[in-house]
Amino acid sequence: MKIAFIGLGNMGAPMARNLIAAGHEVTGFDLAAQPEGIEMAPTAAAACTGADVAITMLPNGAILQSVADEIIPVLPRGAVFLDCSTVDVDSARAVAAQAAAAGLGALDAPVSGGIGGAEAGTLTFMVGGGDAAFATAAPLFEVMGQKAVHCGPSGNGQAAKICNNMILGVTMIATCEAFALADKLGLDRQKMYDVVSTSSGYSWTMNAYTPAPGVGAKSPADNGYKPGFAAELMLKDLGLSQTAAAAVDADTPMGERALELYRQYVEEEGGRGMDFSAMLPRFESRGRG
Ligand code: NAD
Repeated sequence: MKIAFIGLGNMGAPMARNLIAAGHEVTGFDLAAQPEGIEMAPTAAAACTGADVAITMLPNGAILQSVADEIIPVLPRGAVFLDCSTVDVDSARAVAAQAAAAGLGALDAPVSGGIGGAEAGTLTFMVGGGDAAFATAAPLFEVMGQKAVHCGPSGNGQAAKICNNMILGVTMIATCEAFALADKLGLDRQKMYDVVSTSSGYSWTMNAYTPAPGVGAKSPADNGYKPGFAAELMLKDLGLSQTAAAAVDADTPMGERALELYRQYVEEEGGRGMDFSAMLPRFESRGRG
């Protein structure tokens, strides 16, 4: 397929390289990044001329909407606009409606799996949009990922992503505060891991991304809490889930508390540039006050 790829940062560049390695013809555009091994166009619109699929991997909904304004008019009728960024549900639905009005298919397909998954081609895609567009994009999901779940109409991919990441943020905090409590109770961290990882407190954050250095799964904790998945990205995602919750009047008190803790950590306690599991040293250094 002829693919335009807009937004070639930490995630986009390796995803685009996997498409090239699978034999697709990829033309990229990025405002700043100059990734090796990807043919670049001078503008987003130029990258999209004659494309079968336009993929975007951008920082937020406002940027997505501005790129959409630029590329939707130049994409051929019948092409698919495939947004893989994590953005708010409203932006995803607005862009999909704009694309449909121009005779394009549209999918919101945010990912889970991080930079490692993007490089290895093992991302999970959660996809909102129509069946025909999903069928067009399916071979691309297979190259870039290991699984694509069609979650329903436009916006439902983003809905799945922000619900997943709200659980992730809340369970990471619970796991970290439990390790810090165990320390103060004199319980060895390895013993704590051995019990919890095979008991009812187990979770992805405990078992697969253990936030304690030298214990459990190899994770950013073993690398000085270098991200991984940065605390500020978790803050962004918890902001999206709380905004969505407010819009539909959903009661999400744990999500709200997690948002506040990550906001404090990133904005007031030096957490910018740290992995989101560095909540453990944050709790370690504090008492109840
Ligand atoms: P990044 O900042 O590394 O990359 C974003 C790229 O978009 C940058 O290269 C930037 O120059 C480019 N860009 C910004 N505005 C642009 C514009 N108007 N036109 C063209 N290019 C533009 O971010 P990332 O880590 O690659 O994340 C991208 C998206 O994926 C985000 O929505 C993020 O939430 C999501 N995500 C990231 C991870 C992760 O672990 N990094 C995991 C899952 C999802």
